[in-house]
Amino acid sequence: MLGEMELSLSRANFTTWFKNTSVLSRDKGSVMVSVPNGFIKEWLENKFNKKILESVRGQTPEIREIRYTIGRPKVEMVKRDLSNVVLDKDIDSSSDNDSDKDLDRSTNLNKRYVFESFIVGSNNELAHAACLAITKNLGKLYNPLFIYGGVGLGKTHLLQAIGNKITTDNSSKKILYISAERFTASILEALLNRNIEDLKSKYSQLDLLMIDDIQFIAGKEKTQDIIFSTFNELYGRNKQIVLSSDRPPKAIPALEERLRSRFEGGMIADISTPDFETRLAILKQKENEKGYEFEEEVLVYIATHIQKNVRELEGALNRVGAFSQIYNKIPDIKEVKNILNTYLNSSYRKTSPQSILKSVAEFYNISSNDLIKRSRKKEVVKPRQVAMFLLREETKLSFPEIGQKLGGRDHSTVIHACEKIKSELSIDEPLKQELVLIRERVYNSFDK
Ligand code: ADP
Ligand code: MG
Repeated sequence: MLGEMELSLSRANFTTWFKNTSVLSRDKGSVMVSVPNGFIKEWLENKFNKKILESVRGQTPEIREIRYTIGRPKVEMVKRDLSNVVLDKDIDSSSDNDSDKDLDRSTNLNKRYVFESFIVGSNNELAHAACLAITKNLGKLYNPLFIYGGVGLGKTHLLQAIGNKITTDNSSKKILYISAERFTASILEALLNRNIEDLKSKYSQLDLLMIDDIQFIAGKEKTQDIIFSTFNELYGRNKQIVLSSDRPPKAIPALEERLRSRFEGGMIADISTPDFETRLAILKQKENEKGYEFEEEVLVYIATHIQKNVRELEGALNRVGAFSQIYNKIPDIKEVKNILNTYLNSSYRKTSPQSILKSVAEFYNISSNDLIKRSRKKEVVKPRQVAMFLLREETKLSFPEIGQKLGGRDHSTVIHACEKIKSELSIDEPLKQELVLIRERVYNSFDK
């Protein structure tokens, strides 16, 4: 049937509407076709249904009806089309692939990230509720809304969901989702082209501005300047601002005080790591989205072994999915353990002293050299102690070796630092949080 369609349609038409469809199941009178997204589903239903039905009945006259459902083709179906396996080779990074068809270029919104596919647990309840609430009362309830939490815990998903809901509810609103990194790049570009005023006026016309990973603007004065004026402009007219960050405003280094107080002036909600039940629910949700069907035992295994990061949870599931596509079978628990063995132990989890120093320095917005130098400035003393502590905890280095790595300091200095951080950790909640974030950086630095 696909062959027939290909012959009778233009190439563009065929690839847009038919390429990733497949027959999911059929019974006596009907055929169920799997399509990649709601947009394509609607289009096939409204524009192509007659043609498809004709073509199907040409081969099987009893068929009276075609039904369409969103989801990936089932495992058994995929095998026959080898190109699909190749397409899915990059399966791990598919969630970061912004160039795909679900992306709207004017708002930067990706249709995939909606509230409906976001699992709510005690770890993200507040953030979720706040995000949902502002969609019903844009600009008037919590402004700005500031969401923070570690890597891969759903911040981007929530921001995008806000944008998508507003788009669906009220398409006349002007929305922009932008990462702080791109925001900064666009400012630099505008400065270079001398059209910064145009850019500012573009931002100030928005009804909803969402800046993701705002910690990126640490130390970037010009960017902070523009954000400050844009903020005031929007805020003054009750336009909604949503920000996300890997840490609370007060823990962002080199952030101008006037911005910090603006960020703290609305609502702040955090996302922490999900508990087991939530992890399992998320896995089930993703399994459903992707059309996989694994044993409960398999999902439980993944949820038990990956605890800190939802993106990794998804990565593990995708890995198992890729295996089952390539070998055309649903792996049992023993095979899954094998498949994930390398994933769970791969080198990116191992830590090196260099990555620790680099991560600590980056986190506190100082240079690695500052950690090593003899300075006693407050801004570097604490990061240095944290670095010593982490080197001790995460590597096999001895106290003297750690002292050596940090500019030839005495081992007693290192011992003192480790003990100090350790005892502070039990009473200093922000410090605890900082260490979680730094460790995340260390673990993730091998990924890139
Ligand atoms: P962050 O921006 O915090 O680093 P993301 O929003 O990119 O994290 O989330 C990483 C991945 O995990 C995304 O694919 C997202 O859909 C998924 N995810 C995170 N939290 C949830 C959740 N509660 N329910 C469903 N999916 C989630
Ligand atoms: Mg993100």
